Formats: sequence, C-alpha cells, structure tokens
Amino acid sequence: MKPRRPPKEDAATVVRLLTESAVSLSHTDPVIAREQAALARKVKLRFNVRLDPSLTRFTCRGCKGLLVPGVNARVRLGHGKVTIIRVTCADCGHVNRKVVGKT
Ligand SMILES: [Zn+2]
Repeated sequence: MKPRRPPKEDAATVVRLLTESAVSLSHTDPVIAREQAALARKVKLRFNVRLDPSLTRFTCRGCKGLLVPGVNARVRLGHGKVTIIRVTCADCGHVNRKVVGKT
C-alpha cells in the first residue's frame, strides 16, 4: 500500500493550482476566477496552509479577493527614500504596498 501524503500537502497543492488558474482566467472570465479565488481562500483557512510566496501578490490584503494587475488592480511606483510598489485594488480601494529596495 502506498503511503498517503499528508492532507496539508494536498491542500497546499490545491490552493496553488486554484490560484494559478484564477489568475490566468481573470482576463477572460472574471466571475469564475473570483469563485476559484474564494474557494482557494476557503481551503487555505480550513487546512491552515500558506499560499506560495510567488502567488501572495495576487491576493488583496483589504478584501482578500483576487488582485490581478491590468484586470482589477492599478500598479504605481513610489519614489522616496525607498522605492515602493503600490498596488491599488479596484474592488475595495485598498492600497497594497511593497518595499522593493533601498537606494
Ligand atoms: Zn481589495
């Protein structure tokens, strides 16, 4: 008998696949993309798993919804002492900030 993989690992894979699919679908079918993103969040909370670091930028910190630049997000650079990427969510207006490096 094959050793069963821990459910958490399966859940992490499902969350990753759902988010990837939601991002790629968001350009053509925003309704299904939104549903998939919501489902991914449900699985994430149920199994207490983290989203892949490369995919966290596709989640809005304000409304926890899908955030895709060019679809429902506006990306702006802020030049101060540090360069900041500001991603504004079109759904809730939350500004997701990310510091990209000191100059
Ligand atoms: Zn939002």
